[in-house]
Amino acid sequence: MKNIGLYIHVPFCVRKCRYCDFYSVTDLSLTDLYTAAVIRNIKAYGYGFDTVYFGGGTPSLLTPKQIGAILSAAEIAPDAEISMECNPNSVSENYLREVRLAGVNRLSFGVQSFDDNELKMLGRLHDSVQAVAAIETAKKVGFDNISADLMLAVSGQTFESLRRSLSTVAKLPLTHISAYMLKVEEGTPLAADEDLLAKIPDEDDTADMYLEAVKKLGNAGFEQYEISNFARDGFECRHNLKYWRCEEYLGVGPAAHGFIDGARFACPKDLNKFISSEIQETVTLDEGGSAEEKAMLALRLVKEGLPLDEYPDAEKRGEILIKSGLLKKENGTLRLTPEGCLVSNQIICRLIG
Ligand code: SF4
Repeated sequence: MKNIGLYIHVPFCVRKCRYCDFYSVTDLSLTDLYTAAVIRNIKAYGYGFDTVYFGGGTPSLLTPKQIGAILSAAEIAPDAEISMECNPNSVSENYLREVRLAGVNRLSFGVQSFDDNELKMLGRLHDSVQAVAAIETAKKVGFDNISADLMLAVSGQTFESLRRSLSTVAKLPLTHISAYMLKVEEGTPLAADEDLLAKIPDEDDTADMYLEAVKKLGNAGFEQYEISNFARDGFECRHNLKYWRCEEYLGVGPAAHGFIDGARFACPKDLNKFISSEIQETVTLDEGGSAEEKAMLALRLVKEGLPLDEYPDAEKRGEILIKSGLLKKENGTLRLTPEGCLVSNQIICRLIG
């Protein structure tokens, strides 16, 4: 049986954050029925998995028993990476100990910031003290692969508050950081809040904040391996690498996506339909894995880069970008520099037409 990745979308949140447009519901009474539906689907597809990723939503709203039941239903390789996203306010020491016993071996905390004003602005339910405590507790109960999400260019963020968040990161037992720039998504409360929108750092400051984060995280031992992802040696997220390398993964749950046998598919954003269907409905999106898509994703991987033997025209097209410091040529590949990451879409268009 071939092993692929498994993404499980857990569509529950205690409350919606102001900036978020991910699919989730705040009615937590359906988690048992949801768990049963996930198990039905995993068994029906019949794949083996070498990475599992519980994303959401807030996966840590499932009980350790529910997480354990899902993992027991899947054929999982012995050395699989099993990640779970957690909100710092929804985990206790006991909870973390039990999900570890259930099989989870990597945690990804949705911290976003270690500044309480920024956390309030984002509508997060935790404060910075809870975030630090959750990460330290995870380490204490035995997790040695812990990631935190940070957000850049948040309303009201200053270079000083960003530096404080980054120096807190450097002191914590973290192995991986995802640092994303705030995106204002249509239809979210943030998009309608003119006060908060006015406080978002301008384009130049946003770019400088990104470069500052790349530098400070590098100094703290987190090497950049993807435009928004940084890891200590050997702690790159194996599951997410599958997305960027165009490898196969099954998506289970409302709003989940998958890529199998050369086709990308999506599951409708409808929890009730997911629960009541014997097998989840899927919509085929398009064919995946074209040379253009592979090139686009390979360029995101700043450590691996775009292999020039597979894309021989890219070097000529990228000459001027190399001269201007947006790209570098190393070991037969073209790689984005941190400055290049800021304009990655334009670079990708130029390189692959
Ligand atoms: S950011 Fe995370 S916790 Fe907040 S609403 Fe979105 S999925 Fe839920």
